[in-house]
Amino acid sequence: MIFTLPSFDNLSQLIYAKTRHDVECALHSNKLNINDLAALLSPAATPYLQQMAERSQKITQQRFGRVIQLYAPIYLSNFCTNSCAYCGFAAENKIKRRMLSIEEVGQEIEILAERGFSHILLVSGEAPKVMGIDYLEQVAHLMRDRFASVSIEVQPLSYDEYARLFAAGITSVAVYQETYDRKVYDQVHLAGKKCDYDYRLDTPARVAAAGMREVGIGALLGLADWRTEGLAIAMHLAWLRKKFWRTAITVSFPRLRPAEGNFKPLVPVNETILTQLIFALRLFDHDVGLVLSTREEARYRDGMLGLGPTRYSAGSCTAPGGYTHPELTGEQFEVDDGRSITEVCSAIRSKGMDPVKKDWDPIFQAH
Ligand code: SF4
Repeated sequence: MIFTLPSFDNLSQLIYAKTRHDVECALHSNKLNINDLAALLSPAATPYLQQMAERSQKITQQRFGRVIQLYAPIYLSNFCTNSCAYCGFAAENKIKRRMLSIEEVGQEIEILAERGFSHILLVSGEAPKVMGIDYLEQVAHLMRDRFASVSIEVQPLSYDEYARLFAAGITSVAVYQETYDRKVYDQVHLAGKKCDYDYRLDTPARVAAAGMREVGIGALLGLADWRTEGLAIAMHLAWLRKKFWRTAITVSFPRLRPAEGNFKPLVPVNETILTQLIFALRLFDHDVGLVLSTREEARYRDGMLGLGPTRYSAGSCTAPGGYTHPELTGEQFEVDDGRSITEVCSAIRSKGMDPVKKDWDPIFQAH
């Protein structure tokens, strides 16, 4: 079961050939195909952003109501054996490295539980010899009865390892391709196991096959042509939907943020672009969870409430141990929305939406 993507250049050509007529046909279609999506991602769609916003808002409210699910990340470790040119955790960066002990994870958990979070994302660099499956299993056991869902964003694992973590209480896995453009992928992944594009591309399928409830995919915006990334994400999403219809899927749109190493984005991605991408994805797949993290400014996140995204992180710290010790450095990237969960909840309510800290219970899994 292998997902294969047509060449990135061919996908680009498909997008850039689209006309205003194609965009209008796509906007009148109830079920978009890949050609329609290409039109909505194309330069010809830029004047139609308002119509796209209106449709995206309507679909999102029909499918998700007024709910915004909230989650917080816990950074477990910033050790990493890979050299991704854009990342503060890259092996060659001289940052203070640390991995949380199980006791320290317990302290971070207490703080987030006290703040009312029920959905936690465990994040780490990719250093399997430092932070392996046994450690993750221990952390999962520690958290499973405390939180409604525990997700991981760590090194890609094997099918057996995902199955083991699912049994231990992990419910979902986020694994972003970073870029679907093979040429750019090779340019920015300079050393380590992550250099293997195909192994990473196959990972969401291993996650779903192992029984996880949800898989998160996405691309890091700022590396390659964002329109084509959008089309590639959608093709990956559609393939996963077909093969693993029981698995929920989310898509994230992280834009490159300043980080140790001072990597500059290879292509500019402004807020208008990000907005077009989000609306296009929502029109293409009405049920996909769309994630907007604290990488984005508060002003932008507030402005997007109700229009497409369904899941927000809040009060995030991206350094291991950063909730217990806010003075710690060694973060993966700078957060742009630094508001507390209380402030984010107030902003959500002020827009007539409902901040939801819990929308799932492990008991559902048993039936
Ligand atoms: S993006 Fe992930 S794999 Fe790459 S250097 Fe950062 S933590 Fe390591």
